[in-house]
Amino acid sequence: MNKYHVNEKGYYGPFGGAYIPEMLYPNVEELQQKYLDIIQDESFQQEFQELLRDYVGRPSPLYLAKRLSQRYGANIYLKREDLNHTGAHKINNTVGQILLAERLGKKRIIAETGAGQHGVATATVCALKGLECIVYMGEVDIARQAPNVARMKMMGAKVIAAQSGSRTLKDATNEALRDWINNPVDTHYIIGSVVGPHPYPDMVAKFQSIISEETKKQLLEKTDSDTPNYVIACVGGGSNAAGMFYHFLDQEEVKLIAVEAAGHGVESGESAATTALGKEGVLHGSRSILMQTDDGQVIEPYSISAGLDYPGIGPQHAWLFKNGRGSYVSITDDEAMQAGLRLTQLEGIIPAIESSHALAYLEKMSFKGDETVVICLSGRGDKDLDNYTKYFGL
Ligand SMILES: *Cc1c(COP(=O)(O)O)cnc(C)c1O
Repeated sequence: MNKYHVNEKGYYGPFGGAYIPEMLYPNVEELQQKYLDIIQDESFQQEFQELLRDYVGRPSPLYLAKRLSQRYGANIYLKREDLNHTGAHKINNTVGQILLAERLGKKRIIAETGAGQHGVATATVCALKGLECIVYMGEVDIARQAPNVARMKMMGAKVIAAQSGSRTLKDATNEALRDWINNPVDTHYIIGSVVGPHPYPDMVAKFQSIISEETKKQLLEKTDSDTPNYVIACVGGGSNAAGMFYHFLDQEEVKLIAVEAAGHGVESGESAATTALGKEGVLHGSRSILMQTDDGQVIEPYSISAGLDYPGIGPQHAWLFKNGRGSYVSITDDEAMQAGLRLTQLEGIIPAIESSHALAYLEKMSFKGDETVVICLSGRGDKDLDNYTKYFGL
């Protein structure tokens, strides 16, 4: 373990920990005590790797995007998480957590979801394992994300509407936590990003670290070096970025760039640019950086991309931001939409609008000579077609 990873108390520098109501102690403590033994166990790893290969479709390709590279004057590789089963990186984590839940003897799975992507990834692995699945989702999001609600229901999940507050992701998260308090013995809560009380941020990062593990091997095969100059990923809670950064953290020469959603602009009052606007505080069980008013009320985030409008970031990201290991930047709705169209027309790949934020940052960079960039293409854009076509008037 080094200075960028979690310590034995569950902290990354001043961030992380487990700030939870006393009634959640038994559940969280059970996880804290068992997660490393379980996921390091040989039989776990064997089943995990097998499912990643045969069910998720890994390794995901590392694709040299030639026309994109030409445009920017660098060697730009896309890590194709969009080609995973269910269309994004989230399945890496839910496969890991369902195997963990099985080994903990849990029969009932709960999850929160915003855009529905994590809900779908959770419903998928519950169908795979024949476990009961309950997904909490804000009432507003249920209306906005009908196709994902349909997917979850078809896979046998029960979707419960969160009707409090703004009726979006953070309210769904609160409902899921309440459920867990009431069902401590038989239920596992699958959190969808590197957020929540310790050990979730570390556990989810470990499950997603397959992204950078594969990237290093693939880069070595293609370029004779496993070390790019830049690694870029978008950040909602931060799980695809955490996975994309994981095996590069110790290589200080690799510049890590995390792209947040600036919505209508960082200063517009409608954004999700957490590090630009946020202050230190506690949200959903861990100490991190979050968007809040002076008296500590969480500010409702906004982004055109439903997967990025989270008011916080995971504690590891707060730490990488604070100690300068990562550059945390932001991209507006407009910049992201243009980048999405650009990738589609240069490479024939329609990215998720979340991933378009990472791609858009290329416009702000300048490269010298023969530099290598890896961008995490966290998901595919099928779910966003409506948004893209309306935006461009197609
Ligand atoms: C959910 C999602 C994200 C944001 O979540 P992270 O935990 O920050 O990775 C990014 N891209 C896609 C495609 C998503 O579905």
